[in-house]
Amino acid sequence: MRTHYCGVLTTANIDETVTLCGWVDRRRDHGGVIFLDMRDREGIVQVVFDPDTEEHFERADKVRSEYVLKITGRVRARGEGTVNPAMATGEIEVLGKELEILNTAATPPFQLDEHTAVGEEVRLKYRYMDLRRQEMQQRLITRSKITSAIRNFLDNEGFLDIETPILTRATPEGARDYLVPSRTHPGQFFALPQSPQLFKQLLMVSGFDRYYQVAKCFRDEDLRADRQPEFTQIDIETAFLDEAEIMSITERMVRELFKTTLDVELPEFPHMPYAEAMERYGSDKPDLRIDMELISVDDLMQQVDFKVFRGPADDEDGRVAALRVPGGATISRKEIDDYTKYVSIFGARGLAWIKVNDLAAGVEGLQSPILKFMPEAVVSEMMQRLDAADGDIIFFGADKARVVNESLGALRIKVAEDQGMVGDGWAPLWVVDFPMFEDDGNGGLTPLHHPFTAPSCSVEALEANPSQALSRAYDMVLNGCELGGGSVRIHQRDMQEAVFRILGISEEEANEKFGFLLQALQYGAPPHGGLAFGLDRIVMLMTDSASIRDVIAFPKTQTAHCVMTDAPGDVNAQQLRELNIRLRQSKEEPKAG
Ligand code: ASP
Repeated sequence: MRTHYCGVLTTANIDETVTLCGWVDRRRDHGGVIFLDMRDREGIVQVVFDPDTEEHFERADKVRSEYVLKITGRVRARGEGTVNPAMATGEIEVLGKELEILNTAATPPFQLDEHTAVGEEVRLKYRYMDLRRQEMQQRLITRSKITSAIRNFLDNEGFLDIETPILTRATPEGARDYLVPSRTHPGQFFALPQSPQLFKQLLMVSGFDRYYQVAKCFRDEDLRADRQPEFTQIDIETAFLDEAEIMSITERMVRELFKTTLDVELPEFPHMPYAEAMERYGSDKPDLRIDMELISVDDLMQQVDFKVFRGPADDEDGRVAALRVPGGATISRKEIDDYTKYVSIFGARGLAWIKVNDLAAGVEGLQSPILKFMPEAVVSEMMQRLDAADGDIIFFGADKARVVNESLGALRIKVAEDQGMVGDGWAPLWVVDFPMFEDDGNGGLTPLHHPFTAPSCSVEALEANPSQALSRAYDMVLNGCELGGGSVRIHQRDMQEAVFRILGISEEEANEKFGFLLQALQYGAPPHGGLAFGLDRIVMLMTDSASIRDVIAFPKTQTAHCVMTDAPGDVNAQQLRELNIRLRQSKEEPKAG
């Protein structure tokens, strides 16, 4: 139908006759002349109808916002003084000759340029309208470009795109499964994949050597701000590559992606052990754009009587750490109170602080409610260790190491954001040397990654001291976001069995749930490993979007609800009967589905 997209017309098209199809963004009547801003996915162009065109002019007079039109006209330069530099097509306009109304439109539920006023619920309910906004169109266009850049890279590197099942058995990634009842196997359920993990490993056993998939994953979690129950991974697996090779190839992929999509040259990716990341940043995904670190002062606090500090300093699982905020002495009492509330979310029971007013004056030059508890020598040694300077504020965390890391780690970011201390640009890194397991809170162990991750030690060493074992896992982090993570996998049955044992999975259960994997490991499984990138998160970062929902065409709300289709919904009694399901909660007869 069309010859051009609206948004691509330039002065190079002057005098051409063009046919455009799109939506009426705005209609204005200027003393007998009608201006229509026509919009399509590429942008907006101004079309002018004057009364000479009679019937077409009359039709133009009738159109309203969001009508769908086909227009033929001639491109011409805008008159002096009417050029609009704010508009990509602002140097030209189209003199309309013919206008066909392809469809009318009811009054929109919200004006597209007033979307912020209506709230997200309304935007999600009328998502097809919300997506007409240029900002949303741009985000999804960029998303498509990102996916295709990644595909191109992987295709060129010899990766094969292979699909894996959606109806499957549980694939443990630490979340709850979405279950699908089976009609043909009464009382039994499929699980939707939390990731294609086991299938991609089996593809390595089959010899495909390099696999990728743009894979939908499903995790039934209580949704935090930036999670979705279904999300997309760039899922990758390779055989015969070690962790250094896997990191190198995927780092190149991300580098090229940034170069081709944003024309950004990413800096070096340092490798940082997990323990160091926790010690210095209180986080396994540190934002290296922020030039502040957590500094341990346990040894010093073992010399004070102040119980709040002394207790955790003496406790093997405790930590006392300081966060020095350069120039932070201007932070008000009210702000400190707010920060104290903020760290309490992470379990901190308080937030001690010292303001450095005049370092040369010794303790006299410091201001803090806790100074009276500390010998002068300790304070002065601490100031030296922290490299304190006049005008700083120092915050303290003293508790179990986990609480201190989480709370001071989060405070570091919050203060940096509030005080404008987040540097510009991109700060990538690899976090490596993760522990194999962590405490599950019930006296047992749970995998830090997933139970198929290889340890960097032998079966014997692992069984002798599982909680100290490190894994061959790695995470790619960018600006404080985990872009992706993966590991070298276990490719030998005895090691896999040992890990199941350590996790308290009985032999019977292991065979029942993962028998197919254990068997496959016996039939010549090659050494293999891979990782998965969170596509939504990558797009969010690369489009500078505030929420993951802004880069997904049809996202769900935080209660995992689709406001537009009203999913999940009831099903009718007949469907339930076929599935052998009787609802426990007695309900009115469900609506006919
Ligand atoms: N399956 C893992 C995940 O979803 C990624 C991997 O290990 O490749 O986090």
